[in-house]
Parts: sequence; structure tokens; C-alpha cells
Amino acid sequence: MYQSRLLSTTWREAPADAEAVSHQLMLRAGLIRQLAAGIYTYMPLGRRVLRKVEHIIREEMDRMGAQELYMPAMQPAELWKESGRFFDYGPELIRFQDRHNREFALGPTHEEVITTLVRAEINSYRRLPLTLYQIQTKYRDERRPRYGLLRGREFLMKDAYSFDIDGDGLDRSYWQMHEAYKRIFSRCGIRFRAVEADAGTIGGDGGTHEFMALADIGEDTIAACTHCDYAANLEKAEPGPSKDKAKGAPDDAPALEKVHTPGIRTIDELAAFLQIGPKECIKTLVLKVDQQLAAVVLRGDHELNVLKVKHYLQANEVTLAEPEEVLRATGVPVGFLGPVNQSLPLLIDRTAADMVTAVAGANESDYHYRHVRLWLDIADHSVGDFRNVTEGEHCSRCAEGTLTFHRGIEVGHVFKLGTRYSEKLGARFLNASGQEQSFVMGCYGIGVSRILSAVVEQHHDETGIIWPMSIAPYQVHLIPISIKNEHQMGAAHDLYTRLQSMGIEALLDDRDERPGVKFKDADLIGIPIRIVIGKDAEQGMVEYTERRRLQKESQRIEEAVERIR
Ligand code: ATP
Ligand code: MG
Ligand code: MG
Ligand code: MG
Repeated sequence: MYQSRLLSTTWREAPADAEAVSHQLMLRAGLIRQLAAGIYTYMPLGRRVLRKVEHIIREEMDRMGAQELYMPAMQPAELWKESGRFFDYGPELIRFQDRHNREFALGPTHEEVITTLVRAEINSYRRLPLTLYQIQTKYRDERRPRYGLLRGREFLMKDAYSFDIDGDGLDRSYWQMHEAYKRIFSRCGIRFRAVEADAGTIGGDGGTHEFMALADIGEDTIAACTHCDYAANLEKAEPGPSKDKAKGAPDDAPALEKVHTPGIRTIDELAAFLQIGPKECIKTLVLKVDQQLAAVVLRGDHELNVLKVKHYLQANEVTLAEPEEVLRATGVPVGFLGPVNQSLPLLIDRTAADMVTAVAGANESDYHYRHVRLWLDIADHSVGDFRNVTEGEHCSRCAEGTLTFHRGIEVGHVFKLGTRYSEKLGARFLNASGQEQSFVMGCYGIGVSRILSAVVEQHHDETGIIWPMSIAPYQVHLIPISIKNEHQMGAAHDLYTRLQSMGIEALLDDRDERPGVKFKDADLIGIPIRIVIGKDAEQGMVEYTERRRLQKESQRIEEAVERIR
């Protein structure tokens, strides 16, 4: 590719709202451009990286025998109602109506679609196991889209689904996928840990692991053992043997005030009644307590608060609790606590934007709770006094090592679903003895576009990106110092065609720019090998530089070509 023709503009500065280094660098290097919050165009250079990541994923999926298909993003709401997720999914699910007022959703994931597909296509155990995958655009109306491609509202995901006869089969499919994921992330140059995770809202019976790219910007915290290979998401991490789990509430837990709210049924009405303006930071937590799903709306975004409440509920096996009681025990104000049913998630939907400083649950008719203090105060002083595990404590698995904490970006997730979807959607096959049985399923996601950001978080220096060779937009950057110099341009073109014939992708900077400008751009874009063609080109010499080290070496053209090969 000739750089003079490439649709690529580099920026000296990143916009002020780009907080993450990867977001800044990807904008500055001209890899992505924002259209709206969490919605991006992949520019030619970014698109090339994305395709390479996709290629690696396809190779590994195909290698394990998974088959690629492509499913629609536009999905009838009935499907989602059948599975129960139309309500459970909350405001992240983008819903709309067609011209005949039929309801639809934009797929944030495809369990419903694939389960109904397989229900129609497969009716005998003879055709199992089966693993299907796609690389496709997903839509999630994230509360806080941010950090560029790390948390988008429209993003690219590889999602795979396995269908097995029984739990043993699922186990095999699951671990096969687990292995494939390890290869995929390694090949992309990501430093990662596979960590035990919490089953969360999807439910399901059995294991789930998250693949975490280690990076400070990551929104998850991982506890990892220094001795064995135990690693878990903090929400899941098991305390060591001697851990004293009981923790009281802070003494100055804020008071709740009961407010008479006659006739108010919806959160909107309540918010208006209490004159609360929209503010952010509501976290909805749905968890399994005492065999029932309970929902909690937490005011505040802090993971420790989530842990605190969760732990309290689990320890006490409560299904229903008064917000006051939870507040007293944990110091965390919760908005609503009760069994998940079809109306509650809608309630949560509405609460997200509006309930902040004041409102709590309507457990009693015509009464709501009002907090007398701002949740922010509360979140701040309750931080740090509770964790499932603490850094430095003994590992629960080997009892020899200690736990260290790391921040991680969730780049992949594997999940044993069991029969949750197949039962709900009536997806059955005939087993060897001719009886009907529900498919035993697993689901497996990779954040394809998120990988780009994760890689940049891990591979950069102060001047720009340093792409791993496997996913670099081009492998070699050819930079003639002066495009007016015939020898230099001759040598550059010559090299370009030779590399091309060797199947090596080169970008030739044929722009009429000062060398300083070209080098700055090259540092920013981060192509792994750079060949500068300058004065010595006449003597058949060029300068060979690895982006990683930025150390110049003078070399004969022949040698440089050999080195690249
Ligand atoms: P997160 O915890 O970051 O919100 P998730 O657990 O909701 O992610 P999954 O439903 O497990 O995500 O989806 C599979 C994969 O898709 C995730 O592991 C992640 O890599 C990617 N992903 C999820 N949400 C986004 C997003 N908003 N933008 C980019 N990638 C995403
Ligand atoms: Mg999410
Ligand atoms: Mg997650
Ligand atoms: Mg996940």
C-alpha cells in the first residue's frame, strides 16, 4: 500500500474525553473514528488489524471443528420473551418496532436465535455434538460506553454455541473451546489469565471462565495465586481457610427515611414526586439466593459494594429483604430487593437513569425509602472494608501461595449453559433409546473489537502503538527519506515489490513530508519492522529498525530482506 493513497490521518493530540491510552492512540493513529458514543468506524488500518484477529479466531474455531454461520442482528421480541430474557436483559437490549408495530430487538448475543435454529435442524443424537460460531456485530446499549473499542454499543463479537447430548459432552466441548481460546489470545500477543468467574445473570449449571487481558485500565479485578494456577474474578474468589468473613456495617451507615408516596406505582412517577434529577451510577445485580433469583439495584458503581451486598445475601440466604436491613448490615443502599419476575426488570430499566440520591424500594404499598445522604459519600467511606478475599491472603486452592490482585479486561468468556435455553425454547432431540431430551449447551464469546484495544493497552510506548507481528496492519513500513531522490525511491519500490512477492505486507511512505513527520507517524501507527531508505541507498544500504526497540541498524538490502523473510 502506498501511504499517499491511504485513508489515514494522524492526530498530534487525542481529544480530551479519550481517557484510556488505547483509545487515545487508536484515534491518533487513525485506526478508528467515532460516529456516536460507543459507535465507531474502523478505518482502513484498524480494519486490517480486525481482519487479522478474525482470521486467527476462524483458524482456531475451524481447527476444533466448529462451523461458521451468520445470524441476523434483528431478532423478533417473541423469541426473547420465550426465553424470559426480554425482561431480564434490561435497558442494554435495544428494542424497536417495525412498521407493523411488531416488536424487535437488536441482538446483544444469540442464544435464542441459535437454539431455535438447532431445534428446527437437529432431531437426533447422531448429529451431536455440534459447535457453531459466527463473527458478527452486537448491540448493547451500555450505560457507560467508554474507552473506545473497550466498551462499545455496537461491537464485534465472536460467539459460539455448543450442543451436546449430556454433561460429559458439554465438558469436552467446553474444555476444547477453553484450549482454543488460549491459543487465540496467545497468537494475538495478549498477556492473559483464564479466571474462574461468577455465573451471574445467565445462570446455568457448572463452570464459567473469563479470559482477562492484564491491564490497569481493566474494569475487573482478578485474584491470582503466586504458587498454583488458581485465578478467579474477585466476585468469585474463594477466601482462604482462616478468613474471618463476618464484617459489620460502618457505624455511620446512612439513615433511610420512609416517605409516604400515595398511589405511586412507577419509578418515573416516584422520581418526579421526590424531585430527583437524572444522575448516573446505578448498578443492577441479579443473583441466585436460596434457589431464587433476586434483584438488587445498587446505588453506586463500586464493585466492592456489589460484593458486599452479594455476600451478605448469600451468607444469610435471604430471598427477600428489606432495603433497610441490607443497608444496616452492609452500609450499601439498595434500591430494590426481591424475586425477579416479569415486571421487576422493567422497573429496573426505568430506575437506571433516575433513582439516585433518594429512592429505595417499594416493598410496602404507598411507601418508598429516601436516603438522607448522597450515595457517593457512602460508597467512598465503605470502600476497602470488605472483600471476599484480601490481597496477600493464603490461596484457598493450594494453601501455599498467596493471592495477588490484578486488573483485567474481559476479552473472552466461556460458559456452561446446560439446558437453560433448550428447556425454555423446547429444543429437544431423540437420544439413543428414542427418548426426547433437551440439548445440553455451552456459549462462548470473544470481544473481537475489544481485543484491539486490549492489545494496544499492553503494547505501546510513549510515542505510539507497537503491534504484535501476528495482527499488525502491515508487517513492514518502508520509509524513503526523500521521495524526490531517485535512488531512494527506486530502492523503495524495488523492496516493496520483492516483499510483496514474498507475501509480506508492506506500507510504503511515499508522502512528500519531512522525515521527522514520517517517523513520528510511523512510531504512532506501530508497524513492527521499519526500513528507512536514505542516503546510503545508492550503496545498497538501508536502516533496519524494530518498532519494539527503535534501535537503528545499518544493513545491506539483501540482508534486510533475509531478516524479514
Ligand atoms: P463486560 O463484563 O465487559 O460488560 P460481558 O460479560 O457483558 O462483558 P459477554 O456477554 O460475556 O460480555 O460477551 C462476550 C464478550 O464480548 C466479552 O467477554 C467481551 O470481550 C465482549 N464484550 C462484551 N461487551 C462488550 C462491549 N460493550 N464492547 C466490546 N466488547 C464487549
Ligand atoms: Mg456487559
Ligand atoms: Mg463480564
Ligand atoms: Mg462475560
